[in-house]
Amino acid sequence: MSDEVNWSGDYYNEGMNAKNSIFDKLGEECGVFGVWGHPDAAQLCYYGLHALQHRGQESAGICTNNQGEFHYSRGMGLVKEVFNESNLHDLTGHSAIGHVRYSTAGESKLANAQPLIFKYREGDLAIATNGNIVNALEIKSRLEKSGSIFQTSSDTEVLAHLISRSKHDDIVEAVKDALSQLVGAFAFLILTNDKLIAASDPNGIRPFTIAQLGSAYLFASETCAFDVVGATYLRDVLPGELLVLDRKNVMCKDSFAKPSRHAICAMEYVYFARPDSDINGINIHSARKRMGKKLAKESFISADIVTGVPDSSISAAIGFAEQTGIPYEIGLIKNRYIGRTFIQPSQELREQGVKMKLSAVRKVVEGKRVVLIDDSIVRGTTSLRIVNLLREAGATEVHVRISSPPFINPCFYGIDTPERKDLIAATLTLEEMCRKINADSLYFLSKTGMLESINFMPQGVNRGCCTACFDNSYPTKK
Ligand code: SF4
Repeated sequence: MSDEVNWSGDYYNEGMNAKNSIFDKLGEECGVFGVWGHPDAAQLCYYGLHALQHRGQESAGICTNNQGEFHYSRGMGLVKEVFNESNLHDLTGHSAIGHVRYSTAGESKLANAQPLIFKYREGDLAIATNGNIVNALEIKSRLEKSGSIFQTSSDTEVLAHLISRSKHDDIVEAVKDALSQLVGAFAFLILTNDKLIAASDPNGIRPFTIAQLGSAYLFASETCAFDVVGATYLRDVLPGELLVLDRKNVMCKDSFAKPSRHAICAMEYVYFARPDSDINGINIHSARKRMGKKLAKESFISADIVTGVPDSSISAAIGFAEQTGIPYEIGLIKNRYIGRTFIQPSQELREQGVKMKLSAVRKVVEGKRVVLIDDSIVRGTTSLRIVNLLREAGATEVHVRISSPPFINPCFYGIDTPERKDLIAATLTLEEMCRKINADSLYFLSKTGMLESINFMPQGVNRGCCTACFDNSYPTKK
């Protein structure tokens, strides 16, 4: 097939942008971390955010509450770049919320870095969120017409305005009133002068978990953030649930909406979350391994080795190898220390770009028929580069197996996706895609296979997962 394929040129470089100059993978959302009732709240937050860094690398921030007084620090860059001993030392108090950001709505600038801090008639508010409010523009335009002035382009600010305009004086009632007007996917942490409030959207689209550390309560987007601070996981925040912690340190359970069908993002299991995290009690590595096994059952191919695209596809590759008996090998190595580059690459350097991030292990793949496992194909440009890397290193055949169904629709719930016209699976047939990425064969895991592998089955359509990017079945209005 290789002679029919355009090995370089425009197609090869599609999908390059400032955020992701080498790979065309989906952009992660954001990560939140909260602490209530611990003397080292800011430090715990720092370590928690560090563990959640894969969810956003554009900015980071922490706000603490010291007996009603807020202290905060926010900056552009990685957690380790934004915080140091000195600014962490200034973040005093027994409660804190923190955030790592990848901008899906709103520009990438310091004013949009979270937690966002507001003064309202009853005191101070700090808000950190993961997700996307689908009707934010609609609400914003309504509020602006009636006199509201917005300081940021972040959709999170909409919540602050709704809270401050609520007819309720009680903060919990005002937050409930505000949240009930939002449509979309969100996991909110709201710090007030005397409370910490956590809330998840009525479909529970974004992951949100609770843990305990001694008598302190912790909240995080993923459980991997609890492990680094030695906290014990309690449970996930439920769809439509509102949890309130106050000075009595008792967690009050409330709700702001009737839970709709549970629709946790299936892509969290496929790609976004860290393999050592559990979402709804399901370990991510184990779910991915099951996806690899299912994929092997659905699309067996005779080959010499199985290899996975590091890091998110390794678990599925191990599952594929286990199921088929074809040995798993490390055929690709990721350069972990490349970091981010601010140099706009020239055409020539872009072509080298993938080699800076990934190398094929020649001695492993040379002369071999390789099964290459990847978690998803977005534009297809990454797949083409990786297949070519393996061929250049001497692979005789490259069979691509994808551990999720074809990605054909954009996401409105906080995942940075290209328009439909730029999604390769939305525009080409399987055969055309296979040719375009220069593979010898290509297969995607079925939707049923993916859902059975995730194995999260509360009642409802799709067994509790959002699958809109695969099947156009959006859990909310768009
Ligand atoms: S549309 Fe896809 S990426 Fe977005 S929340 Fe649903 S499953 Fe996740």
